[in-house]
Amino acid sequence: METIPFAKPFIGKEEEEAVLTALRSGWLTTGKETLAFEKDFGEFLQNRDGLDLPFCMAVNSATSGLHLAMEAVGIGKGDLVLIPSMTFTSTAEVVRYLGAEVVFVDVLKDGYHMDPAALECTLRKLELEKDETPSRGLKVKAVVPVHYGGLPCDMDAIISIARKYGLKIIEDAAHSFPSFIQDENNPAKGRWAGLTGDAGVFSFYATKTITTGEGGMVVTRDKAIADRVKIMRSHGIDRSVWDRYSNVKASWYYQVVEPGYKYNIPDILSALGRAQLRRAYDLLAMRKKIAAIYDEAFRDDRNFLIPPTGNGDARHLYPLRLCPENISLNRNEFAEKLQERGIGISVHFIPLHTMPYYKKRYSLEDNDFPETLKTFNRTISLPIWPGMTESQVDQVIATVKSLAQSSLN
Ligand SMILES: *Cc1c(COP(=O)(O)O)cnc(C)c1O
Repeated sequence: METIPFAKPFIGKEEEEAVLTALRSGWLTTGKETLAFEKDFGEFLQNRDGLDLPFCMAVNSATSGLHLAMEAVGIGKGDLVLIPSMTFTSTAEVVRYLGAEVVFVDVLKDGYHMDPAALECTLRKLELEKDETPSRGLKVKAVVPVHYGGLPCDMDAIISIARKYGLKIIEDAAHSFPSFIQDENNPAKGRWAGLTGDAGVFSFYATKTITTGEGGMVVTRDKAIADRVKIMRSHGIDRSVWDRYSNVKASWYYQVVEPGYKYNIPDILSALGRAQLRRAYDLLAMRKKIAAIYDEAFRDDRNFLIPPTGNGDARHLYPLRLCPENISLNRNEFAEKLQERGIGISVHFIPLHTMPYYKKRYSLEDNDFPETLKTFNRTISLPIWPGMTESQVDQVIATVKSLAQSSLN
């Protein structure tokens, strides 16, 4: 039987030609192709939400983008930042880069997204403990919702809590391009996941919904945040390399106004990004089709729980939950057997609160976030990539089902 990879980028002639053109142009690093990528990206977003053109800053990864966005909203030493434990390590590590502290929040029951009730509960607890060690002197500064799997978080609830507690909102939108949250009353209108808070960050990592191999995009409608990100992504220099190249006046002159970072994306990758962006809705349609087949196959199967879906779901992941009451294999055994049978799978995510670094730093126990732990212990991400054929999808379903059948309690 054919082996089916967990993920595979969708790269065609257009991408190949775009990269070749960039290679032959004589300009490889950040330049006019990146400016064009940012412009195309902004217009893509504006075309759908009809609001002001957002500021879009292309960077070399979403991790860099999250770091820049958090720096730009003023997160620093002595600040607390709330994030779900159910996320990739990037979301938390950038908080530590800035000297701020991570506070984990549990996910919804049987879910994958930050639970607004748990968020509020955590904030109340921090409020009560604010004069005691270890919270003394620390200030709750921001919340980072993660639009897990491309399904937007309950942003109305999170925004209202954030307002009440005066928190900044940085959206980890690594999975959610494109996730348009339609207005319930007027489906023609709505908001983009990534543009509901102060700033949002998309990822173009190789397995993400559109890819540049490595890359990311910071988006915001706040000019001050955008200006800060632009300076800090390029060594804290007050003008871009491209501006110095293309503006004959004083091409060698620049000023360092901050000790910034080097997080720029090369034009070779931006060219790839522009070609992928033109396909974004087609790729979304292909993922939706696969997800619908999975939903149909597993919805009424008592051995499994299908992932929640809804308004604006980009369908980046397909986390299938095993029901341990029925299936005797645990998640690890199930995953291993699937891989033996040629089905590439993954697990999203190993909760951060169980990782040695965070466990030790914040004295955490696995059971401190019970829903997160439960989700982790029971969930397998199935392959869902554009270009997967229906027969490959059927093969995944048949293999998963027969494995469950052969291991019933
Ligand atoms: C992939 C991912 C990131 C990091 O993206 P990079 O572009 O690889 O830096 C951040 N957060 C989440 C939830 C991710 O899945």
